[in-house]
Amino acid sequence: MITRKEKREQEKNVNYFLEFQKICHHFFKGFTNRLRKVKDPRHQSYVTYDSDLLLWMMILKNVCQFTSMRSLSNGLNREECIDNLQKMLATQELHELPHYDTINDFLSRLDPKELENIRIGLIRELLKKRCFEAERIEGKYWGIIIDGTGLFHFNKKHCAHCLKREHTHKKTGETWTDYQHHVLEAKLVVGDMVLSIDSEFIENEHEDVTKQDCERRAFERLSTRLKATFKRLPICILADSLYACESVFQRCEANRWKYMFRFKAGSIPSVAQEFEALKALKYRGQSATTYWVDDIAYQERKLNALEATVQEKEKAHTFLFLTNLPITEKKAEALVAVGRRRWKIENQGFNRQKHVQYAIQHVNSQNHQAMKNHYLLTQIADILMQLYEKGSKLLRTQKKTAKEISSALLEAIRTRRLTEEDMASLVKPMQVRFTG
Ligand SMILES: [Zn+2]
Repeated sequence: MITRKEKREQEKNVNYFLEFQKICHHFFKGFTNRLRKVKDPRHQSYVTYDSDLLLWMMILKNVCQFTSMRSLSNGLNREECIDNLQKMLATQELHELPHYDTINDFLSRLDPKELENIRIGLIRELLKKRCFEAERIEGKYWGIIIDGTGLFHFNKKHCAHCLKREHTHKKTGETWTDYQHHVLEAKLVVGDMVLSIDSEFIENEHEDVTKQDCERRAFERLSTRLKATFKRLPICILADSLYACESVFQRCEANRWKYMFRFKAGSIPSVAQEFEALKALKYRGQSATTYWVDDIAYQERKLNALEATVQEKEKAHTFLFLTNLPITEKKAEALVAVGRRRWKIENQGFNRQKHVQYAIQHVNSQNHQAMKNHYLLTQIADILMQLYEKGSKLLRTQKKTAKEISSALLEAIRTRRLTEEDMASLVKPMQVRFTG
């Protein structure tokens, strides 16, 4: 234990922005270079700021928790900031930082594919580093949680791609339409971190579609792309009961993926009945906290079912999962924990991104393409931020809140100039551990 005075002394000496850069450098050496190499949609003769600067500004907006584009421009408008960014990006001369309109203009034209590719690069680097091998399910499969969430709501038509939701007031009978944008996320779960590996926007192709887009259709697109990108990666898909259906089983099996879905009796009654019957036979009145039955026939396949009752805050919850992972007496408990990882996308995923750290529901630009790019940049920033929060021993011992971590980062970039010595320290090899 350190005393509060020691803690203050320790904090005074730390340049948190440098610590953050060290983590970024350790995991992703060519990151800034990669940002510089995006296919720039702008007319090159009018370009004042390179893409790496514009994209880094957005990453800083996220990690320093600026809630609006305007506050970002104001918050970073200091000599020290300009100087630090110039050093970090190894840019020749930087006298001013770009105005937020310049950034939004760039993001309204940048192909989102460019940012998707950058994210793929980050995930590949992480997997190559082999620092999360212990997190593989059954020592083999990477858990990927799939779930959709709402991002933006408008009371007027916003663009041709909005999802339309009709509402009727219960008492007055008054009707109105809500215009929304949703996203389907695939997040790689490693320990306490959930790292975005793919995002598919749930949106209509055009205004006059006969059937609106939905989560399951978005899953078809996302799963096709995920398989094409990570061809040989052993994956286990974790999702809620919406996914326990024929089309998703088929898709996962065709991709040679394992899956574990929450199951509700109503979704496939025949499977539920079969489970109850086989369970009664197998356990014959014995009571346990975990029950499992394998080889439940459904269409062309056999499914395994696992039921667990978990005590949480004096309340007992019963969960039922369907999976194509083999279950054994020894593995049953561990598999319950795997199935329950799905909830991490709610807490460490959406909830944190909406209400704790990045305010992803705040509209930074009305432009449809910029909206997507803003979202993808948050996902990229969040990968860096989670590695920083969980990988920095200093932050782990200090037990700072997310807000405090972001404030300390901002304070450092605004007030401390990076020295030559600091820059040299970036390239020194370091060890990063996620526990202890
Ligand atoms: Zn729209």
